[in-house]
Amino acid sequence: MRIIIANWKMNPLIIKDAKALFEAEARGMKKFKYIETVICPPACFLSLFSGAKNIKLGAQDLFWELQGAYTGQVSGKMLKNIGCEYVIVGHSERRRFAGEDDEIVSLKLKAALKCGLKPILCVGEQSGEEMGQIVEKQLKDCLKDISKTQLGEIIICYEPVWAISPGVVGSGKPCLPDDAFSANLFIKKVLTAIYSRFLAEKAVIIYGGSVDSKNAAGFIKEAKMQGALVGGASLVADEFVKIGEAVNGL
Ligand code: PEP
Repeated sequence: MRIIIANWKMNPLIIKDAKALFEAEARGMKKFKYIETVICPPACFLSLFSGAKNIKLGAQDLFWELQGAYTGQVSGKMLKNIGCEYVIVGHSERRRFAGEDDEIVSLKLKAALKCGLKPILCVGEQSGEEMGQIVEKQLKDCLKDISKTQLGEIIICYEPVWAISPGVVGSGKPCLPDDAFSANLFIKKVLTAIYSRFLAEKAVIIYGGSVDSKNAAGFIKEAKMQGALVGGASLVADEFVKIGEAVNGL
């Protein structure tokens, strides 16, 4: 089973376009038996898609507290209540624009698990940084106090920050599948050190960063990833469905 996750980020701007995009992606992806499709629309549109068939709903963020005087925040319990099953945590754009660090990501990871949401934990180096050093620190800090059982609920997304597109298909520079494969092995090595080899082998690790229909298969076949987090290409339904076509059955 592969998992393909659409991260719409702060798009589209109006309900009509959000509904049209969701419906086209749900229609196109439903024929792929071996793919779990997750769509993460902006928070304000999530409830439009409660109870959608064949598509899992994901949020792009959550707050670390579950309820209370936290103006502007969204609780994992609320997300769960409107039908979300997944939530992205640790995305580099939240680290950059909302000042989130590993300590905050770790709190959010725990809140997500407490609410019964599956966290998609993003890790990855910036341009010029050494992958191993950064990813090891992010994993160790974010997974602090996460039990062996809880690890099984988490999807780890290797998303090198320099590979993330500006939002338009074909405009970014994806990681080479060989390098994504090295990152995959490295993540398993770190998980082995924290947990066990058995759990590291079982962990779900996916790739994100300028994935499109032309390069998606390489990340599955060559980099041995279990799926992909897709930003820009998830805003074009035909392209997103073509990613499904490229990956289905691999
Ligand atoms: C992302 O930032 O989560 C992402 C996958 O973006 P893109 O595919 O546009 O690089």
